[in-house]
Amino acid sequence: MFCPECGSTDKEMVGDVCIDCFLKEFQMIEMPKNIEVEICSHCNSKFEEGKWIDEFIPEEEIIYRALERNIKIADEVSNEIINLEIDQIKGTIASCFVEVTGEVHGVQIDETHDVQVKIKKTVCPTCSKMQSGYYETVVQFRADKREIKPEEYTKADEIVERTLIKQSSSDKLAYCPQIAKLKEGYDYYIGSFKSGKKVAEALKEEFGGVIKESPRLISEDKSTGKGLYRIWISIRIPEFEIDDFIRYEDKIMQVKSISKNSLVGIDISTHKKHNIPMKNMEGIELVKKAEDVEIATIISKSPQFIQILDPIDYSTVDIDMKEEFADYNVGGEVKLIRIDNNIYLLS
Ligand SMILES: [Zn+2]
Ligand SMILES: [Zn+2]
Repeated sequence: MFCPECGSTDKEMVGDVCIDCFLKEFQMIEMPKNIEVEICSHCNSKFEEGKWIDEFIPEEEIIYRALERNIKIADEVSNEIINLEIDQIKGTIASCFVEVTGEVHGVQIDETHDVQVKIKKTVCPTCSKMQSGYYETVVQFRADKREIKPEEYTKADEIVERTLIKQSSSDKLAYCPQIAKLKEGYDYYIGSFKSGKKVAEALKEEFGGVIKESPRLISEDKSTGKGLYRIWISIRIPEFEIDDFIRYEDKIMQVKSISKNSLVGIDISTHKKHNIPMKNMEGIELVKKAEDVEIATIISKSPQFIQILDPIDYSTVDIDMKEEFADYNVGGEVKLIRIDNNIYLLS
């Protein structure tokens, strides 16, 4: 065959020209000389196809990915190996080198390209919201009819932090720009409603209590008529704590455990265990604190009574004998709680 380009007659033909003339013009890859990537200077997320994606990726990795994404390989190429290199980064411009080796119509060739990647640094919407202190929800941590203890605040802070870290993989607004420390409790400002709700649920899981939500209209967008709402979520933890004494449906119980949906109490008369749903918290009355437990000495024992010395007025008091007290020894000590002029021995 005759090549119209070089006049040779003994070479393999590719289309109308010989292989040598074909390869002279051929490029294995097509890529722009200049690539621009817009990244957030705070979280390194990059703007691509109208979205901010992939935060917290090192800058070099962003450059490599920008190169990869802009390479177009011709169909004729097979067994290609692409080598990407960053020569140097000066300011916001990375000078890069792309080397390709591959096979085209049975001929092994290689090709190099110089490419510049320009990194344009801006601030993504999430980071700008965070910087401006944007929030959708306030989680109010409160206790019912009492002050919150320092150790409860410490625990709550830990729970809020842990929950937001967990949420941050799926929610960019999982952050807390502010904690307002008020006399009645802490207000945790949370970026998104979704994560705020998770924070409140995690607090309830630990402390028990009741959650209430109240949306507030902050402003109205005049063009769309849509309102901007912020949601206040209050979590009110119970007044009583573990080992305290409560009254519920005419029973007096000592609280043994508190969880998200219920509490377990031991009836101090019958020593039976009861579960009380957390939603009935309103019906629970705190009657004595754990600190009010007193210690008395056992004076005598009979099958019907156990006699103790009242630690306040040193009078003797007879208390009905129960299975739980069978092992108690005369001269030994026993715990008691005084409620409504009655003395209850605790097992
Ligand atoms: Zn030719
Ligand atoms: Zn960002």
